[in-house]
Amino acid sequence: MAINSDVLVIGGGLAAVTAAVSAAREGADVRLVSHKASTLRQASGLIDALGYVPATEPAKPLRDGPPTAGRELDRDEWPDPEGPLADPFEGIERLPESHPYQVVGADALRDGLALFDDLAGDAYRGGHTDRNALVPTFGGAVKPTARYPAAAEAGLASDERPMLIVGFRSLTEYDARAFAGRLEAAGVPFDVAGAEVEFAEAFRADAKITRLAKALDHDEDIDGVPAREALAKAVAPHLHDVVDADGGVDRVERVGFPAFLGDDRGDEVRAELADRLGADVFEVPMGPPSLPGLRLEDRLFDALDAEGVRFETGNPVVGVESASDGRVEAVAVDRKGRTAPYGADAFVLATGGLVGKGLDSDREGVREPVFDLYVDQPDDRYEWFVDDAFGDQPYARFGVRPDERCRPTDADGEAQYENVFAAGGVVGGADAAREKSASGVSLATGLAAGRQAATEASQ
Ligand SMILES: Cc1cc2nc3c(=O)[nH]c(=O)nc-3n(C[C@H](O)[C@H](O)[C@H](O)COP(=O)(O)OP(=O)(O)OC[C@H]3O[C@@H](n4cnc5c(N)ncnc54)[C@H](O)[C@@H]3O)c2cc1C
Repeated sequence: MAINSDVLVIGGGLAAVTAAVSAAREGADVRLVSHKASTLRQASGLIDALGYVPATEPAKPLRDGPPTAGRELDRDEWPDPEGPLADPFEGIERLPESHPYQVVGADALRDGLALFDDLAGDAYRGGHTDRNALVPTFGGAVKPTARYPAAAEAGLASDERPMLIVGFRSLTEYDARAFAGRLEAAGVPFDVAGAEVEFAEAFRADAKITRLAKALDHDEDIDGVPAREALAKAVAPHLHDVVDADGGVDRVERVGFPAFLGDDRGDEVRAELADRLGADVFEVPMGPPSLPGLRLEDRLFDALDAEGVRFETGNPVVGVESASDGRVEAVAVDRKGRTAPYGADAFVLATGGLVGKGLDSDREGVREPVFDLYVDQPDDRYEWFVDDAFGDQPYARFGVRPDERCRPTDADGEAQYENVFAAGGVVGGADAAREKSASGVSLATGLAAGRQAATEASQ
């Protein structure tokens, strides 16, 4: 007997959750099946909508023909991307026609961001305006982003108050001084200093970010001193480290830490540190492992529960179980080595890109493994890449090509299945890394695909 629902969402990341909640809010009975943890755990926790519009054509004239592998372009042969954009919506019309934002429309992004605001609640900021915020990240960039964790709010680069960035001697990957130097070099409108303090030494053998966060959550004793007090004492001598342009010393008004200030009780930890330091305290988003990403994932899965979506993780969907008349009737789910049919009136594929395993790549090419959908790609592998790191990399845009109803199409542009819809990283046409658009694409296509699937199921 097949397990049945109106809509079956395949995937467990931002796109899948958005699709599932959107379909449920349209009245559909929704089930979500996800294999492994999504990229949310690795991501910074920032919700990028569109920060840049990269050039898709080299600057002309080209000196030696098209930019294929084997020929390095000079830097001046490729135009700089347009941006950072103050308003992501304003850049959409200049994206290629095949871009997911052009396919689903700017309103889908607007509604997707509104849905995110609703699900994220007071844990996120930025929903008061269409404009991008500029958020410093430990990667060294000041990033244009649409939504950011409340914990990062006091660190915005548009704020002119002097800033101290704190790093830890035992966590060498967060080099606070280098980071402060990069911010200065980027021309931020505030004075900034970096300081490395001794705090995490007690955890040298176990200096995992999650371990430190728990110690602050529970205010554990470190050599007889509660963790929050110990951290504030380590930072206090540096509150006057900032030197302004005239050589004068400012007392900092905000202090930034790597994003591990508590797991469940982050608000409490930041408030106590702020009180002890007499300055606002914020977290700097960082790469994997990402506590902001983990916190967001928890929040989104709680939202699934609240919206009545049934979900299961740990089991991959391995293929189509039955289909007829251009419609999928059931997919096969691998449950510990035995496959079980999961039937639905409509399916949303939200399995991610090459990182999420929604796309597979081998010597033969790139393929979509669940429905074996068409992935547009040059026959010649040498045309996947150009040698210029700044250039328009064809592989970055690989993915399924949806029609205006988010149904993946074949090489002739016809929907492959009437009742299969696609969302998120598995959808091609965006160069998310260069554009800074990954989460926005997941929200816009997730919302559109979820609504379309619910409509399909109701007919
Ligand atoms: C290192 C890193 C940093 C990032 N930083 C940012 C950032 O700063 N800002 C930003 O906006 N975005 C960022 N992103 C992108 C963002 O996290 C998402 O990757 C993007 O939004 C795509 O989301 P998704 O839901 O489509 O896919 P994913 O997050 O990849 O999720 C895919 C899900 O599908 C599941 N799945 C795959 N195949 C199957 C199957 N056969 N059966 C069942 N389940 C399956 C996977 O297990 C996973 O749960 C980052 C990504 C990475 C990897």
